[in-house]
Amino acid sequence: MKTIFEKSVAGREGCWPCEGLAEEAYIPKELLRNEEAGLPSAGELDVVRHFTKLSQRNFGVDGNFYPLGSCTMKYNPKFTENVAALPGFTRLHPVLPQLQGAGRLCQGALEVMYETEKLLCEITGMNAYTLHPMAGAHGELTGVMLMAAYHRDKGNKKTKVIVPDSAHGTNPASAAIAGYEVVSIESRDGIVDPEALREVLDDDVAGMMMTCPNTLGLFEKNLPEVVAMLREVDALLYYDGANLNAVMGKIRVGDVGFDIVHLNLHKTFATPHGGGGPGSGPVGVSERVAPYLPISRVQKLEDGQFFLDYDYPKSIGYVAPFYGNFGVFLKAYAYILRLGATGLTRATENAVLSANYMRKRLEEAFEIPYNRTCMHEFVLSAVRQAEKGVRALDIAKALLDKGHHAPTIYFPLIVKECMMIEPTETENKATLDTFVDDLIAIAEMADADPEALQHAPTTLPVTRLDETKAARGMELTEDLANAT
Ligand SMILES: *Cc1c(COP(=O)(O)O)cnc(C)c1O
Repeated sequence: MKTIFEKSVAGREGCWPCEGLAEEAYIPKELLRNEEAGLPSAGELDVVRHFTKLSQRNFGVDGNFYPLGSCTMKYNPKFTENVAALPGFTRLHPVLPQLQGAGRLCQGALEVMYETEKLLCEITGMNAYTLHPMAGAHGELTGVMLMAAYHRDKGNKKTKVIVPDSAHGTNPASAAIAGYEVVSIESRDGIVDPEALREVLDDDVAGMMMTCPNTLGLFEKNLPEVVAMLREVDALLYYDGANLNAVMGKIRVGDVGFDIVHLNLHKTFATPHGGGGPGSGPVGVSERVAPYLPISRVQKLEDGQFFLDYDYPKSIGYVAPFYGNFGVFLKAYAYILRLGATGLTRATENAVLSANYMRKRLEEAFEIPYNRTCMHEFVLSAVRQAEKGVRALDIAKALLDKGHHAPTIYFPLIVKECMMIEPTETENKATLDTFVDDLIAIAEMADADPEALQHAPTTLPVTRLDETKAARGMELTEDLANAT
């Protein structure tokens, strides 16, 4: 596709705001350029069509199925966007709650934060929340910092954090950034093995980070045993709850005995994940960890007024400017209230049902390494197809030709040639069936004509890239003068 510069035709213009006036009449002379700005000349309709076409080259969940495992690319209802755009919220200045006497001007916003925290406490069985972290991994780092603050305060000398090999990749990174030595333990039959845990458990262990469901989409059945073992050495339990749409309404991590949990509002609670947009990774804690939560915290006075409280001497301090991504928790708040306890539970049930339905339909065509009831996602392996020279990468590319987003591939690392599929709760059966049919057709093609799949995608604006060249020999500018 041509760039807008290549489409430029001298003399073609859109409408000019001050027709008939010289520039000097409305722009101070000293601000006028001495040379041409070098902008393209194009009519308004040319510009609209150009950018509309460009936007259609983006792949998004509003356009197509997007089963990118671990990312929860579900459809989020548009009403939450309307709520987040209400001028009463968008026109607030973030400094307002801190100004003397101005608190009354932002009671509604403070109430939303206060109530969202309370709702998340109820959903997860935790004692208190901070909404400040701006993403899942940021929530993890905050959580591990809370862990460190707890041990420091108690005078515990702890140096290690245990992370199972089925945990999300950000977990060991967060623990390492917080200064801990990361001890990895191998899973057995796809879940945490209490015996492997026993072998590494000692007084140096500050805590353990569990992803549940884990990256294989499996529920960690040994949670109570794991909790009991860590309690023996005064280690804290961290629950990576980024994928809460697999357990919401079914278990409460606080009731299981976890001390710290982070959620991804930009997965489960009505903000799209991906694209680097604003996220929110609230962290919930048990009573013994609550004194260390970041400041500020929203509190409610007896007369019903809300205010920001900074008076927590044991707090780890600030983890984000102001209060986090307010628009994201506004959407979460609206979403939770709209769905209610019944709706949230049904979201979980539908996410799990969709994944199991697809897993069942695909079990003949593909190897499924841990083929039992899964949670919101499941992991296939293309080892059988790889024998014919068709790798998970080729299958992912072939799916693009059929109009689907590819699943996550080569993650988790513990499964060869893996494809991690997460259908989410928002897709209907017909969509799931179309995807499954296409995937089965690709598996058949891998048998009949493996060579053809190695060239996919063939129908998209960008076809198979030379990934080494893309990384090593990048061309980041365009030679407009010599554009063809
Ligand atoms: C997505 C995800 C994360 C990281 O969240 P980001 O917002 O992308 O930083 C952490 N853990 C799990 C299990 C996830 O699925």
